[in-house]
Amino acid sequence: MLTVSRRQFLKLSAAGLGASSLAVLGFSPDLVLAEVRQFKLARTTETRNTCPYCSVGCGLIMHSLGDKAKNAPAEIIHIEGDPDHPVNRGTLCPKGAGLLDFVHSPNRLRYPEYRAPGSDKFQRISWNEALDRIARLMKDDRDRNFIAKNADGVTVNRWLSTGFLAASASSNETGYITHKVVRSLGMLAFDNQARV
Ligand code: SF4
Repeated sequence: MLTVSRRQFLKLSAAGLGASSLAVLGFSPDLVLAEVRQFKLARTTETRNTCPYCSVGCGLIMHSLGDKAKNAPAEIIHIEGDPDHPVNRGTLCPKGAGLLDFVHSPNRLRYPEYRAPGSDKFQRISWNEALDRIARLMKDDRDRNFIAKNADGVTVNRWLSTGFLAASASSNETGYITHKVVRSLGMLAFDNQARV
């Protein structure tokens, strides 16, 4: 419960009286508050992105400060819905509205990790190591299990032993290219969180 001292109560009353007087004169406190928000975001860099949570794929604008110079690392300070995005028109659900906490969470995964067979812990690996390993395992599995013809001798070119899952945050173009790559390898088990 909010506790207000006598001094704070007098201050609040004076502020409320001032605000209502200004409103009578045509100055809306809402506008004043909106202006404060404008100033907060005035010097930020805006970057377009897509919410990573669900298949709705709402558009975001991320506001960051810092010019990436040595002593000014960029930091995201505010995230809101993109008013120009055709899916959400600037709105975000509570999950999307809480994305700033997700971005700054100490538990967020920022690099590939690998858990060796039989091991009980993950170890950090580089992106190159991760991509090389994925490519190696896919190639080996495809070489072992690729089906060029079915029992009737009809060419089918199927690879049934590996599946692929794409993310909802992919753009249409990324989804299209991913689909082409997966199908050209003969893979049938392919799904996308956004069902594109
Ligand atoms: S803001 Fe909500 S509805 Fe939109 S993509 Fe994110 S989780 Fe889904």
